Amino acid sequence: MSDVVHTGGCQCGAIRFRLVGDAPDASICHCRMCQKAFGAYYAPLVAAGEAELTWTRGQLKYFHSSNHVRRGFCENCGTPMTYEAEDGIAISAGSFDEPGRLPPVVQFGAEGKIGFVDRLHELPERDTMDDIASAPFLDDIVSYQHPDHDTETWPPENNPKEDEQ
Ligand SMILES: [Zn+2]
Ligand SMILES: [Zn+2]
Repeated sequence: MSDVVHTGGCQCGAIRFRLVGDAPDASICHCRMCQKAFGAYYAPLVAAGEAELTWTRGQLKYFHSSNHVRRGFCENCGTPMTYEAEDGIAISAGSFDEPGRLPPVVQFGAEGKIGFVDRLHELPERDTMDDIASAPFLDDIVSYQHPDHDTETWPPENNPKEDEQ
């Protein structure tokens, strides 16, 4: 087994995890269950497979979406975290600190695929700060999102700006 390490967590930082070992297969699932669970057009998931998964902070809450599947989420901020069934556990890809390291290799639940998903790459693109004129509050925005790395304490006690990137 390799010692490749992936870390991640929910948006607020109450839940953190570490995944060590051969990774993991990333996928997206178009099924209607996953659309609802993620509030999204499809769900990006990373199957932990044989890698060793440790929850390093916090405890998930679960919704049993069927008799065979439960889905874990952060009860504090609502981030979808897991899909868990008899054949293993998968973690939401966007919750990884570096999701770009885990490109998806397959699509599941194709029967539920929303047609326009195949055309998303054709849409015009804008950066966040392109909208500063119509959303001037962006100018002094302060993020309360947990940073993309493990922290000793969260939220930071003294200087909240230190970790906000
Ligand atoms: Zn959270
Ligand atoms: Zn699904």
